[in-house]
Amino acid sequence: MMWKALLLIAAVGIGAYLAVTQVERNGAVSRNVQESDRAAGAGEVVKTDADWKRILTPEQYRVCRQKGTERPFTGECWDSKTRGTYVCVACGNDLFGSEAKYKSGTGWPSFWAPRSDESVRLVPDKSHGMVRVEVVCARCGSHLGHVFDDGPDPTGKRYCINSVALELVPKKDGE
Ligand code: FE
Repeated sequence: MMWKALLLIAAVGIGAYLAVTQVERNGAVSRNVQESDRAAGAGEVVKTDADWKRILTPEQYRVCRQKGTERPFTGECWDSKTRGTYVCVACGNDLFGSEAKYKSGTGWPSFWAPRSDESVRLVPDKSHGMVRVEVVCARCGSHLGHVFDDGPDPTGKRYCINSVALELVPKKDGE
């Protein structure tokens, strides 16, 4: 009798665990942002590498957490003209608005400014024998792309961002 009860408890436990991980894999962007993820006061999302690997797709993980670069003209939003907000695919942070998006011809989505100065952080990057400025999500530290000084007015900046690091939240009618 006793072993049957134990077996039942174990089965229920495993079932619940599988259900939870399944929900985590299939959930929306907002699933990644929980109050418990945010460091006190900083508004930061802090996760272990194992967590990121579990949450992100392999390509998202490669670009966002390993500073990879997607092949140009392959991402979902390099050519998108849909009005809306581009949020961080890893944490949902509001990063860029479609009003600052422009056609750069590079094959990566390009913006002349982030949504706000608090949206992104800029980090000096001397990798691959170049001196560049890396753009990372200010909330979760994910690599987004680089910023260059050959952009259009009004800022002259070109935020060259990997599509795979972004998720477009389209504007609803009337917004
Ligand atoms: Fe983020």
